[in-house]
Amino acid sequence: MINQENTYLGADGLAYCKICGEPVEAFFPPDSILGMKKHFRQCACIRQKREVEEKAYKEREHRELVERNRKICFEEPRMYDWNFELAEKTTTIEKAKEYTANWNDMKKNHIGFLLWGPIGTGKSYIACCIANALLNREITVKMTNFNTIIDDMFPLEDKTEYINALARYELLILDDLGTERSSEYALGIVFSVIDRRYRSGRPLIVTTNLPIKQLKEETNIEKKRIYDRILEMCVPLYVGGSSYRSDIAHEKMGKMKTFFATAESSQTENIIEQTGTKTI
Ligand SMILES: [Zn+2]
Repeated sequence: MINQENTYLGADGLAYCKICGEPVEAFFPPDSILGMKKHFRQCACIRQKREVEEKAYKEREHRELVERNRKICFEEPRMYDWNFELAEKTTTIEKAKEYTANWNDMKKNHIGFLLWGPIGTGKSYIACCIANALLNREITVKMTNFNTIIDDMFPLEDKTEYINALARYELLILDDLGTERSSEYALGIVFSVIDRRYRSGRPLIVTTNLPIKQLKEETNIEKKRIYDRILEMCVPLYVGGSSYRSDIAHEKMGKMKTFFATAESSQTENIIEQTGTKTI
């Protein structure tokens, strides 16, 4: 319905919008059986309002989809917030960022990462940053580890479907390889998952505390066939340097020092200096 308060009648007999000046009516074509009868048309104000509503709707749909996928991706809610924006600028982080920036090429060429290095250097953190950056672009990612996979699969009669489901995510991240049991049964599952992923042609990211040398020179035949597949699919990226956890400890120590300093206790500060700077 045309709101007469916001319109005026033009010389051509059509109602015009007082705000944008566009007609809010139009005549049917002269050859139409309806002749000079008029029909409603959207003026710029209404079109703009519709556009804004549509944009908000699409944004909400995007947000909901991303949040749903994020919950599926991670097993720990604290990982939802591990992203590049909050990460310290290191060369490894830069490489990880580059990976997400070139995702289409990585995907096409089935390239993943093997993030390896000592415990506590932030390998899982980097993997989460990659996952979150891709999730924000509506790419499906699953991050899990073999202890969870083995536990999940144990009671299942049809283990193939579980393995196939892992192969369907656009990116699969297997965290902490090498911490799972190494029974024949467990290694069989590890191989099945990695081999299925390999055959899916989709990228895989693995994090591990195992030294790369050990992966390359493994003599146990069960493990060797797993590691060979991983080395074929994943570009090794060493994550080392200062320990990520000890950085956090250092930062906490800094905060504590400030706290005690304001409490005018230089003695306490000395005690922290002597006892507290050990890395964890
Ligand atoms: Zn208008």
